[in-house]
Amino acid sequence: MMRTHEVGTLRPEHAGHEVTVAGWVASRRDHGGVVFFDLRDASGLLQVVVDPEQITDDDVHHIGREWVIQIVGEVRPRREGTVNADLPTGGVEVGARSLTVLNRAEPPPFPLSDRGDDVDEVLRLKHRYLDLRRNSMQRNLRIRSRVNAALRTSMNEQDFVEVETPMLIASTPEGARDFVVPSRFSPGEFYALPQSPQLFKQLLMVGGLDRYFQIARCLRDEDLRGNRQFEFMQYDMEMSFAGQADVMAVVTTAVSAAVEVITGEPLAFIPTMTWAEAMERFGSDKPDVRFGMELTDLGDAVAGTEFKAFHADAVKGICVPGRGDASRSVLDGLVDRAKALGAAGLVWMRVMAEGSLESPVAKFLTAEEQAAIVGALGAAPGDLVLIVAGARRRTNDVLGALRLDLGRPPVAEGGLVPLWIVDFPLFEALGDDGQPIPAHHPFTQPHPEDLALLDTASGEEFLDIRSQAYDLVINGWELGSGSVRIHDPGMQQRIFSLLGIDETEAQARFGFLLDAFRYGAPPHAGFAFGVDRLVALLAGEESIREVIAFPKTQSGADPLTGAPNRLDASQLRELGITVPPRK
Ligand code: ASP
Repeated sequence: MMRTHEVGTLRPEHAGHEVTVAGWVASRRDHGGVVFFDLRDASGLLQVVVDPEQITDDDVHHIGREWVIQIVGEVRPRREGTVNADLPTGGVEVGARSLTVLNRAEPPPFPLSDRGDDVDEVLRLKHRYLDLRRNSMQRNLRIRSRVNAALRTSMNEQDFVEVETPMLIASTPEGARDFVVPSRFSPGEFYALPQSPQLFKQLLMVGGLDRYFQIARCLRDEDLRGNRQFEFMQYDMEMSFAGQADVMAVVTTAVSAAVEVITGEPLAFIPTMTWAEAMERFGSDKPDVRFGMELTDLGDAVAGTEFKAFHADAVKGICVPGRGDASRSVLDGLVDRAKALGAAGLVWMRVMAEGSLESPVAKFLTAEEQAAIVGALGAAPGDLVLIVAGARRRTNDVLGALRLDLGRPPVAEGGLVPLWIVDFPLFEALGDDGQPIPAHHPFTQPHPEDLALLDTASGEEFLDIRSQAYDLVINGWELGSGSVRIHDPGMQQRIFSLLGIDETEAQARFGFLLDAFRYGAPPHAGFAFGVDRLVALLAGEESIREVIAFPKTQSGADPLTGAPNRLDASQLRELGITVPPRK
């Protein structure tokens, strides 16, 4: 028998038992004749004491870190004063009767004992198999596995059918570039890898599956800014004869099950906020509502002011508690940041005793205006007030970003605070050609109250049209999004033509979906969220790379396998591909 127990399971009640344990040497300490090993396996750490006088099978003093050994010995309580309260097995040790070296190991290129934050990430990823032995990675991958299981169980309980959709497909539009795969049978032709199962899940609804889900791998060739990976896992669902509220209820149940399995507490009710309110109050479509510092409209406070800079579409401010002591260079930095974000400028004000304001612009404001600003923001002495004036959207964006810069807590602080954002705009911007650009994918159903606007809107008015799209946000992270879909081919054509996708292009790109819709598509709606992000939130990690077994670096490389790499000449020839010679 390789082992009778996993090391992390031994407790004082095992005292006197003879056990066989096996694992890696996490550390070795030589102490006056006897040698102490910390033995590690997946379950934890255990102290083993070896007396080289008795154990002569191997040269105990040569055994190094990460060697794989097996110990047969007796569990005994640790002597008083040597109990380690930080370790679950800290009350016991095993006195070795025999020691077998199962495998030797070279010294690891970085210590495996701690969190690894100070180890270069490329080095960690190059030796990921060692990095995975660390506590936090072990813990995170186990959290991940349990989250996946909970999501599956919940969806099965809710009568959803798990369907695997293909990886080699024609393009699915999600707003990123496709990864493509050359076809050997049809040289010069390519498959796209799925940016999402979107089109297939809609086809499944036409196919009468009624309720579909999948934990799906999605691939998007986009810049790896922030917390993104080229490939990621999505909890993906779609349901027929259902609308926004039905989808939100199913997703809430599934996410809550996943949260409960890790934290022991289900998610309470998830509140809903409209996109317009989120933008006005937080300057973000993924508001982090764990802290205040909300954007406050100062239009009334400065109505009729002589100060020209405040004669603007919107004048809004935030109050940063207790930061009135910020130095001049910090404040100059904030002004530069606001300008880089697109503001014409940034007004700062230090709130002094008795609520007077110290600010380069204070002399342009009357005492009443100053008092009204302080009052509207609820600012107190010692606080810092930041004000932006300009076009409303831009003003909200800039203050929203400053709010996060100055107030955002670490991602795991204060538990999970989820929020549904609803009534997203149908179009997020106008392209250079004046054509509206979809905010979600082009299959999103417009808001029933805004249908008439589709025909009458022009220019910027398009941006006021709402859609039946909704996002789930947790702690300021966009976890996922979904929408009620267009199921009427006529409406789909109308949206395509607004987006500048003409019939020929629509037929070429999504002809199969439009064809399917001619055969009785049920009304349907769906949603998808990033499993990596949910797991990171539950594990308290800022980076999703900490919860992915084999992630890519920020430049999209895998230092372990060397991907991406060149193909050899014969492979290229077979695929009919010519590549420029290596520089
Ligand atoms: N396919 C969408 C996405 O990947 C989600 C959805 O609309 O269901 O973002």
